[in-house]
Amino acid sequence: MTTISRKVFRKVAEQFSGIATADGDGVKLTRIIGSPQINFLDPFLLLDCFESDDKNDYIGGFPAHPHRGFETVTYLLNGRMRHKDNAGHEGLIESGGVQWMTAAKGIIHSEMPEQEEGLLKGFQLWVNLPAAAKMSPPKYQEFPPESTPLECRDDGTQIRVISGRTNQGTVGPVVNHYTYPTYLDVSLPAETTFEQSLPEAHNAFIYVIEGDVRVMSDGDDGADAANQQLTAKTLGVLTHGDELLVTAGSDGARFLLIAGKPLQEPIARGGPFVMNTKAEVLQAFEDFNQGNF
Ligand code: FE
Repeated sequence: MTTISRKVFRKVAEQFSGIATADGDGVKLTRIIGSPQINFLDPFLLLDCFESDDKNDYIGGFPAHPHRGFETVTYLLNGRMRHKDNAGHEGLIESGGVQWMTAAKGIIHSEMPEQEEGLLKGFQLWVNLPAAAKMSPPKYQEFPPESTPLECRDDGTQIRVISGRTNQGTVGPVVNHYTYPTYLDVSLPAETTFEQSLPEAHNAFIYVIEGDVRVMSDGDDGADAANQQLTAKTLGVLTHGDELLVTAGSDGARFLLIAGKPLQEPIARGGPFVMNTKAEVLQAFEDFNQGNF
């Protein structure tokens, strides 16, 4: 007997534009995931984009605040942010660099702009942890820009690889055996097509930073072609499948492609704490208020 395997191409299932809000000490941002539009996309709990060249929009930063039960991932496209925590850990996140912080049982930290003028632009993603790891010791994976590989293809495509593996074999430095994330920052010249394999069951999305893209699928009948177009500053949640084809529009495009293994566990949220039950969230508030972080 012969088994013929056929690629299943992912499509855009839903599109969201995010919600303008502020967090920290008045930092203006767009909440893309973690909003009333889309509360979470397992294992992703939140995606914020901040982008401004007006210091009043970011100078307040994110003064000391706690986290428990998940990971925070800060990736900067422009600017610099300094991070400090209550365990004495400190670092600088720069354009093209990433900080993947596994807050786990608890960290109190601040994230402050290391600049008083100019453009600050980047993303913070929250990635959930499984119940078995929510109370494990905190840890960091921090990589400056020179340690996040930039794959440059013959067709002009450039891919900054934070985690996961591109189809040409470039592997990102972040290791994560909870959700096995893919985190790619892809820049495509006009009308160029990018193909990326993804684990079939992983939840995945595209966030378009600049330009516009079309998500293609083999044997498309064109019936829902309009639904497969994503414009700048749009989130496209993808259907399941093992392959993704994305073509840039006439101005080229830049987008994040992020995927991860869904945890399929109950989610109880309370501000900066994300646990499995409400009782665990209340315990987190109690531990924080009693200085046990
Ligand atoms: Fe934080």
